[in-house]
Amino acid sequence: MTDIVPQLVDWYDREQRNLPWRRPGVSPWQVLVSEFMLQQTPVARVEPVWLAWVARWPTPSATAAASAADVLRAWGKLGYPRRAKRLHECATVIATRYDDVVPSDVETLLSLPGVGAYTARAVACFAYRRRVPVVDTNVRRVVARVVHGRADAAPSSSPRDLADVEELLPDEALAPKFSIALMELGATVCTARTPRCELCPLSVCAWRSRGFPASTGPARRVQRYAGTDRQVRGRLLDVLRGNDSPVTRAELDVVWLSDPAQRDRALDSLLTDGLVEQTADGRFALAGEGD
Ligand code: SF4
Repeated sequence: MTDIVPQLVDWYDREQRNLPWRRPGVSPWQVLVSEFMLQQTPVARVEPVWLAWVARWPTPSATAAASAADVLRAWGKLGYPRRAKRLHECATVIATRYDDVVPSDVETLLSLPGVGAYTARAVACFAYRRRVPVVDTNVRRVVARVVHGRADAAPSSSPRDLADVEELLPDEALAPKFSIALMELGATVCTARTPRCELCPLSVCAWRSRGFPASTGPARRVQRYAGTDRQVRGRLLDVLRGNDSPVTRAELDVVWLSDPAQRDRALDSLLTDGLVEQTADGRFALAGEGD
């Protein structure tokens, strides 16, 4: 497995996508913002939102000073808007407790609102160049194929994933680039459905050597969006994002007429999540705009 490091790093130098959060001068906070946004949203949709976001709120304190409603508006259609709320909370903690500087060690990062195991390690590695294993879905899949000769990673992550990647990591100087290259390979070449092995820079891959044995795990679930509560929540939030003042129940109801019970459930969940609030006279507004 020793050749994997130069092969992957050289390939990354040649083939990496030109993503704005990887450019020189991007601060740890801006890296953290990109990781929040990329958790469940594709790169192409994140890019314009991230660019506008960091231009408007370049620091944790600038983000913390924004209203919750403005943060939700700026989040736009990235989906899973609870992430925006958590990012706002995270900015507030960093601004007030850490002097506006994103912590650099994994333990402290893990204590921040909305920062989980992947994000903490990604920030430590990509923003502070720490030698820590960074394991996302793409990395798990590449390791399953290259190291273990399996088509897919196990359905859920385990501590073994971190140990596997740790074993592959080169020294401190190269570890961050190796980590991002491993992710990039999984995102662009060693993809879940149609790996493009003819473009792969790796001379050794256990799955390829074994003749690509089929997956033995459960069939991959296709995530649908149309008709889900997520779609209804998105439509309701669209109405509220487009209004500076509270709206009536009727103005919300028209966005989803086919299933009133589902619409009510979606609205209840937005209220429970603190993304939406209700005024004393029964109208609805984005968080912080119901007064
Ligand atoms: S040879 Fe194919 S399966 Fe193996 S790592 Fe490369 S792209 Fe993935």
